[in-house]
Amino acid sequence: MTAKTTTTAYEGVIGLEIHAELETESKMFCGCAVVDSTTAAPNTYVCPICLGFPGVLPVINKRAVEFAIKVGLALNCEIATVNVFARKSYFYPDLPKGYQISQYELPLCKNGWTEIDLPDGSTKRIGIRRAHLEEDTGKSIHVGGSSLIDFNRSGVPLLEIVTEPDIRNGIEAEAFGRKLRAILQYLGVNSGDMSKGVLRMEPNISVRPVGSTEFRTRTEVKNLNSIRSVQRASDYEIERHIKVWESGGEVVQATMGWDEARQQTVLQRTKESAHDYRYFPEPDLPILNTSREWVEAIRAHLPELPDTKRDRLMKAGLSRYDASVLVADRPVADYFERVMQAGADPKKGANWIINELFARMNKAALSAERVNEQKVSPEALAGLIKLVDAGTINNNAAKKVLDAVFAEGGEPSAWVAKLGLEQTQDTSAVEAAVEKVLGANPGETDRFCAGEEKVFKFLIGQVMREGRGKFPAELANDVLTAKLNARCGKS
Ligand code: ADP
Ligand code: MG
Ligand code: ZN
Repeated sequence: MTAKTTTTAYEGVIGLEIHAELETESKMFCGCAVVDSTTAAPNTYVCPICLGFPGVLPVINKRAVEFAIKVGLALNCEIATVNVFARKSYFYPDLPKGYQISQYELPLCKNGWTEIDLPDGSTKRIGIRRAHLEEDTGKSIHVGGSSLIDFNRSGVPLLEIVTEPDIRNGIEAEAFGRKLRAILQYLGVNSGDMSKGVLRMEPNISVRPVGSTEFRTRTEVKNLNSIRSVQRASDYEIERHIKVWESGGEVVQATMGWDEARQQTVLQRTKESAHDYRYFPEPDLPILNTSREWVEAIRAHLPELPDTKRDRLMKAGLSRYDASVLVADRPVADYFERVMQAGADPKKGANWIINELFARMNKAALSAERVNEQKVSPEALAGLIKLVDAGTINNNAAKKVLDAVFAEGGEPSAWVAKLGLEQTQDTSAVEAAVEKVLGANPGETDRFCAGEEKVFKFLIGQVMREGRGKFPAELANDVLTAKLNARCGKS
């Protein structure tokens, strides 16, 4: 039997296309309000312009341009001074004009980059190819065999951001997605709520042999409603492509969907030929000049961005990765700041949030950005940390208190009293427990005296157990050491 063995190692090549609605008061080219299209009554925020009636004239929303420039600056892009809008023509029921006003050859922002922090502590720069302004389409809703269209979303300002194909795997795609979402949230231009469709991310994926610089055929995955699924879909496609190439086949350029339930991609359509959008300059809009002065004024007023906040947290003693995790979601960053403001040590605060609070939220199916929907307030967490610092409760007891506050809310100190977890300052109780443990474990005592020091760990564990979480660790340690030394005949 001759099995075809191969030693080719592949790497993924991923570029992301992101659509972010800009949450301005009014739409891109008309005065209609931008509303939450998942809750507003359908077709109640529309006018002849966003419904594409013949003969109407669009007017550029200055605030949307300002928002887009903010994003471009935060992504280290060059900002164009001369902007030409373009018509992108195609037919689709949710596009009443038969064309979308977009930008083509002259995007507002280009040649930028941002840095991502990876779980192994390394960082990587991801290039931003371009970011341009356009308008969102209406939303098709399919019910009971018929299709309805809601035009509330039609004409909402949309920023399309396109990365270079610098991303290599799902973990990097996820890190980039989180970083970008954080930037949008910090700038206050987008809520980052992917489940509502205001932020949409589509990975383009191909693979190639490691060491090769060629680009192979890519597929694009649509309909991803979380950053987690961007990661999973990317890795799924990478594996799928590798299998196709390895079996002697060829990857076909295609648009894929993501089946969340099955955790796999599904073919939507193959791209046998590129669309011909017949782009041409939008005749109904003037050339948009974005002056240097205006851009610099916007730059001067940028708020603190995730990287700056991360650096500030690192100066307060946090590791780079912990800091990047905490700043990655605006609500988490704000929560952490309040824990610090309430007087908790930053490093301890970070540990309690990342290791303990997130674990409990995860079990309760709450993602990190929903930190304000659980019952432990930042002040309560800070209070808990201070109770440990003051020696009122030990670490294990603190975890029990956190369980209680997480489940039912309330003050940590009240739970300490209710659960009887306060540490005893009564040395005689600790001494009695040590005597009891040593009496019950003569063999271990002898082994310790014979030089087997690791037995100490076992014995202290028994002593702490006797204390039911109420013995201060240091006191128990001191008493056990003294009693053991006495028994061994040392002083
Ligand atoms: P289009 O305009 O057809 O969408 P672009 O050239 O603008 O195509 O690329 C869209 C995205 O796909 C970009 O993020 C780019 O980095 C990425 N991309 C392009 N070629 C590849 C490839 N071979 N493999 C993976 N990603 C790619
Ligand atoms: Mg594209
Ligand atoms: Zn309108």
